[in-house]
Amino acid sequence: MKKLMLLAVGALCLLGCQKQTKQEINYNVERFYDLEVLRFDVPDFDQLTLEQKKLVYYLTEASLWGRDILFDQNCRYNLAIRRLLEQVYENYPNKEDEDYILMTKYLKRVWFSNGIHHHYNEDKFLPEFSQVWWYDAVYQQPEDTLKKILGNNYKDQFAAVSNVMFNPEVLKKKVNQAAGADLILTSACNYYQGVTQAEAEEYYATHKDTSEEPLWVGLNAQLVKDKDGQLVERTYKVGGLYGEALEKVVYWLEKAKEVAENDEQRLVIEKLIEYNQTGDLKTFNEYAIAWVKDIESRVDFINGFTEVYGDPLGITGAWEAMANFKNLEATRRTEILAQNAQWFEDNSPTDKAFKKEQVKGVTAKVINAAILGGDCYPSTPIGINLPNANWIRKEYGSKSVTIQNITDAYDKAAQGNGFAEEFMLSAEEVEMARKYGSITDNCHTDLHECLGHGSGKLLSGVTKDDLKEHGSTIEEARADLFGLYYIADPKMVELGIMPNKDAYKAEYYRQMMNGALTQLVRIELGKDLEEAHMRNRQLIANWVLDHTNKENPEVEIIEVPVPVDKTQQDSPACLKHFIRVNDYEGLRQLYGQLLAIIQQITSTGDYQMAKELVEKYAVKIDYNLHKEMLARYEKLNLAPYKGFLNPVYTPITDKQGNITDIKIDFTEGYAEQHLRYSHNYSPLPTFN
Ligand code: ZN
Repeated sequence: MKKLMLLAVGALCLLGCQKQTKQEINYNVERFYDLEVLRFDVPDFDQLTLEQKKLVYYLTEASLWGRDILFDQNCRYNLAIRRLLEQVYENYPNKEDEDYILMTKYLKRVWFSNGIHHHYNEDKFLPEFSQVWWYDAVYQQPEDTLKKILGNNYKDQFAAVSNVMFNPEVLKKKVNQAAGADLILTSACNYYQGVTQAEAEEYYATHKDTSEEPLWVGLNAQLVKDKDGQLVERTYKVGGLYGEALEKVVYWLEKAKEVAENDEQRLVIEKLIEYNQTGDLKTFNEYAIAWVKDIESRVDFINGFTEVYGDPLGITGAWEAMANFKNLEATRRTEILAQNAQWFEDNSPTDKAFKKEQVKGVTAKVINAAILGGDCYPSTPIGINLPNANWIRKEYGSKSVTIQNITDAYDKAAQGNGFAEEFMLSAEEVEMARKYGSITDNCHTDLHECLGHGSGKLLSGVTKDDLKEHGSTIEEARADLFGLYYIADPKMVELGIMPNKDAYKAEYYRQMMNGALTQLVRIELGKDLEEAHMRNRQLIANWVLDHTNKENPEVEIIEVPVPVDKTQQDSPACLKHFIRVNDYEGLRQLYGQLLAIIQQITSTGDYQMAKELVEKYAVKIDYNLHKEMLARYEKLNLAPYKGFLNPVYTPITDKQGNITDIKIDFTEGYAEQHLRYSHNYSPLPTFN
């Protein structure tokens, strides 16, 4: 099937229709250890103007030049290790050698984690190849090359680097958060050198800015001791620490400034350039404020020292980047919902006394990522809310975005991984999910965020806190039910948001399956549900299952004998549980009834009723069902962590060297991409 499609694309190219031919994207790239590498599409890039395309291109370049910074921030030996591994990877003669193959696996992991510690659990991972082989392989490399990577004293450096790689006791955790030990001395990250936790805390306590518009002291600096033992900041800036990389970032930001879409955006870029050049934190605040205010531009970006989870004291930012542009189709969807907010409020199945007379919808900004860099690469968030400075959020607001093409890529990559086939009742549900799963999931999220949370009103004297510990579960259930009720409404087709009157069934099936059965695979056997979103989903599914028509249930859990080996006719069968929906319209009425109840609980602040509902439906898990789900999930052998490859952007120029278009390509492989980045975008010294 796939081959046929590729042939068709090829034939079109021969006919000279290259421009209209969309490249077939292979979403699943590679799998190793607990990691999987995926690709993402960049829809609508073709629809950008040439100036916008150039802007995106320059910002992608600015995003790639900081890659080394994060490696060094994660651990001061990371660049040395990466460079030695890459040298051996490209030059070792026997690629069939068992140790070489194991080293390749290790290198792939180092690329994925931007260093030698697991990107998520932060533990150091150890090589599986032998240390003797490693010494031999490295010393086969030309002395000049080793000196270039490690310096003239390369023998000592190599011994130290190898000890860090192979000795399980050295630098074993990237960020240690276990109280009791010195968090800085027991963390491998590189935000401090030769400084204890007590010294750093004292330094930052005395240097903290307590003014009304405070500077984020330490955001862009490594804390070290000078030769007299005094604490000093090595600031990340051009001419300072990481200056070689930031210089390049600035070079591309300058180009981006030339093609900025408007004055607001030009100011954002100007301030960021100035901040990179000076390291001045006041300029950083000005930049952050300008960035929040720039909401009209189609193209947007993040580039700099941002999230502080990598620093055990939570002060210094890890370098991250992302260039993106507004997804107009999705943003249009949220605008339509917001414009019709009052209609939805008036027609909801809740009691009139609990409805808002005047309701305002929220427009969410939906974006497509063009490139991921630094701390967003290869593992990336699917939503972003910045800036982090609280006073700026309070005074100027924040930008909250969802990254649709990344979410879509996860969906696409999950197709064919066996999950749907294992847990959905029949080919019919699998096909429905394939066809409408993405669009209905996005629509449900839009309804939940843009209208659900803002709908309804509290009676006078009632506050959100009245529901106490059950408040967030009830609130999430309210927003989810609002979305579920309306996603099936003919109004959604009329507004041009849903493709047809049956598509919603994909979301209904998935919600019931997930809420009652499959979300359990994320919970350890024997535990209760704790998290509010998970509780809310189970509350909805289990309440519905408990309130169906007993003679003719609208939806039910059924037990089906399934052959253990589907390819064998006489294979023994085992019993498996599935959701079966018999009456989708009836299911919608049940969602409506529960929405009315949950709205009443919220509007009247009925704590007792909230407690009863949550305790009866949302917390406890059926042990045997849970065990079955875990066993079935484990058999699928899916990677728990996923990351991405970037597309390749190439400028097309005319005879005079003017850019006439930007070409985008999705075929680069995993090792290929990382080696290209290491060859072309690696300006930092090995030790900084
Ligand atoms: Zn919510």
